[in-house]
Amino acid sequence: MQVYKFGGASVVNAEAVKNLAAIIRQADKENLLIVVSAMGKMTNKLEELSSAYISGKENTHELLEEIKAYHFNILNELFSNHHHPVFNDIANSFVEIEWLLEEEASDAPDYIYDQIVSIGEVLSTKIVAAYLHETGLTATWADARNFIKTDNTYREGKVEWEKTETEIRKHLIPLLKKNIVVTQGFIGSTSENFTTTLGREGSDYSAAIFSSCLDAVSLTIWKDVPGVLNADPKWFDETERIPQLSYHDAIELTYYGATVIHPKTIKPLQNKNIPLYVRSFVNPEGEGTVINELKSILPVPSFIFKVNQVLISILPKDFSFIIEENLSDIFSLFHKHRVKVNTMLNSALSFSVSVDQDKEKIAQLIQELSVLYKVKYNEGLELVTIRYYNQDTIDRVTVNKEILLEVKSRHTCQMVMKDK
Ligand code: ASP
Ligand code: MG
Repeated sequence: MQVYKFGGASVVNAEAVKNLAAIIRQADKENLLIVVSAMGKMTNKLEELSSAYISGKENTHELLEEIKAYHFNILNELFSNHHHPVFNDIANSFVEIEWLLEEEASDAPDYIYDQIVSIGEVLSTKIVAAYLHETGLTATWADARNFIKTDNTYREGKVEWEKTETEIRKHLIPLLKKNIVVTQGFIGSTSENFTTTLGREGSDYSAAIFSSCLDAVSLTIWKDVPGVLNADPKWFDETERIPQLSYHDAIELTYYGATVIHPKTIKPLQNKNIPLYVRSFVNPEGEGTVINELKSILPVPSFIFKVNQVLISILPKDFSFIIEENLSDIFSLFHKHRVKVNTMLNSALSFSVSVDQDKEKIAQLIQELSVLYKVKYNEGLELVTIRYYNQDTIDRVTVNKEILLEVKSRHTCQMVMKDK
């Protein structure tokens, strides 16, 4: 068994879908599962649609028309025969959303979100499967919701591994023995068969779940970059591809915010020792990166940048020490407000953390912390994480910066800074 995952950028338009098909044509097609995300930025559009519907705005019809037009444009370019059954199939998928939008939004917002947003993956996979089929690559479309079983935490479904594994073994393996199978990333369903999603950018994680339950020989994630790079080209001119990376380093890098792979992807693969290949769909001949049980450390230092950081310092009002009891209340407030800590430093008199800016959430958190503590904060900062740092790399990123917080472990250095 082999799993390929294609993200939104790899199915952004008709050209991209053709390119995907070309990659499949070159692949070993035996026992191949293809996991696909929604096309281009359609998940963002569907999010807009869902919030417009929930808040009773007028523009739901317009948004839906835009989403429809996007998909039908791609279909028109891919299929010269406009009577191909896929046109009807896609039209029918939209009818389901139209029915939902006609009623008043009376259900819980997170539930509605999942029912609407999940359609992006359903549409893209129907188009991809039909196109592969049309070009002579017999492919079966499969609904991931029959396999990926979750609890009912809408927008962030927690995977029920045992049920998922049972379904995959019973029903997906027989399909894969016959043909290539195309299915969705990002979506699953509850025991009552309501659709759930696994959290934004969750398709990589879906692909890892499938790989694990299938005991796949490998997972390949096809991206618009040549592989895992030592920094995001958005921030650095000179980046280097890392040819080989350990599961451990991959987990650390994604945990600190490297966006190349979803952080939840690695662990299930590591548990079964399944290699993860990150390859370029722009240059499929390229070597890419392999992530596996490598013993050696990264060949080059890696840099991860996060902007829009808020540094929050929490001090006891009476200038006593920060003790375990305080830390425990502080963490439970972070947990309650769902604010994720990017880096932290504790001293006798204060506890400082850096978090992503989210105006509403942070204001509420600070308000609640202020009941028991003195709270200071500083906005508009940058967090840099360097894995396998040395003084040179630190100097390189701190030119004209004032460092407000610095945390170092043996291999990782994190600095919260602002422009001088
Ligand atoms: N389409 C979903 C998203 O954009 C899932 C994914 O792309 O991984 O969040
Ligand atoms: Mg996407």
